Amino acid sequence: MASPALPIGLAPVRPGRARPPRHLADLDPAARRAAVTELGQPSFRADQLARHYFGRLTDDPAQMTDLPAADRAALTAALLPPLLTAQREQSCDGGTTRKTLWRAFDGALVESVLMRYPDRVTMCVSSQAGCGMACPFCATGQLGLTRNLSAAEIVHQVFAGARAMAAGLVPGGSGRVSNVVFMGMGEPLANYTSVLAAVRRITDPAPAGLGISQRSVTVSTVGLVPAINRLAAEGLSVRLAVSLHAPDDLLRDELVPVNRRWKVTEVLDAAWGYAAATGRRVSIEYAMIRDVNDQAWRADALAALLAGRLAHVNLIPLNPTPGSRWTASDPGVAAEFLARLAARGIPVTVRDTRGTQIDGACGQLAATTEQA
Ligand code: SAH
Repeated sequence: MASPALPIGLAPVRPGRARPPRHLADLDPAARRAAVTELGQPSFRADQLARHYFGRLTDDPAQMTDLPAADRAALTAALLPPLLTAQREQSCDGGTTRKTLWRAFDGALVESVLMRYPDRVTMCVSSQAGCGMACPFCATGQLGLTRNLSAAEIVHQVFAGARAMAAGLVPGGSGRVSNVVFMGMGEPLANYTSVLAAVRRITDPAPAGLGISQRSVTVSTVGLVPAINRLAAEGLSVRLAVSLHAPDDLLRDELVPVNRRWKVTEVLDAAWGYAAATGRRVSIEYAMIRDVNDQAWRADALAALLAGRLAHVNLIPLNPTPGSRWTASDPGVAAEFLARLAARGIPVTVRDTRGTQIDGACGQLAATTEQA
């Protein structure tokens, strides 16, 4: 049956229709050399551009004095086009937590968060504008999916954080980004190709990439089983985080709707496959929601699922989102939940909830035009 035509003029004009411009950070070193050759330039120009972008953290042609002045504009226009424009910056924790709202070429909005701790600097990045997973407790989940980000749009969020750190713009002196977590907007494994390319650019040694250790990169997922299996076969040592939030299908079907497709045991089997392939402990994310998933029996059920596995539980006090009927667990109840896991030998920690004041904490990223 033919679908009814939209009346002319009523077709939605919105982000997500065109692809972002190609950028150096979308390409592996061989593809970069091919791209500069197509521009009529010697292939070593690709490595020079990479040294500027990944090594010196600049995309400003004026600073690329080793490139012939006449060619700089053409090379940067072709391979370092502006992708994301900072629309708004907010900070808290004395300036050591900084959230940036980015506007992409098509008006799509995404957010990233830099968190400086005494021993590390973590960039929390977005992999999609919006998200299609519809988890009812998550602010991004309420937006729906606008579009996938390109690899370079993801890498650029880390680049910007690294540049701010190098320039000493974050209190505590100049430094480096040490960790990257795919825990901003979006479901990274629903944008597999771009996320994988971004992981490679982020972790390739400088100057081919940003030189952050694979072990310090975390990919967080609702549990897309085929994509977890595919990631396990990539030969990477990035950390996998699984957003479980319930040990039983009845509740998880509601909290993480994709559970209707891949059940708790299937998701966990894929996670154990990932742990076996990489030797890395899987992080099990569990947002503590008052009177919803925080009962003692659920702690026991969770412990039974994880006993003897290469797993670690991260309890996240729920950050209530506007209009949500849910709130964080009572601290006493959360402590009891943690104690029951610990008593059964399950490694468990409570996630710190930096950035709540600037809506920059877990599950709060929900860039909208109203914010801009
Ligand atoms: N789509 C990925 C990344 C999303 S955000 C995933 O689901 O894993 C990273 C983590 O924050 C996930 O574990 C997510 O479930 C959690 N989260 C989402 N909303 C939250 C909220 N309101 N409070 C606390 N954690 C939340």
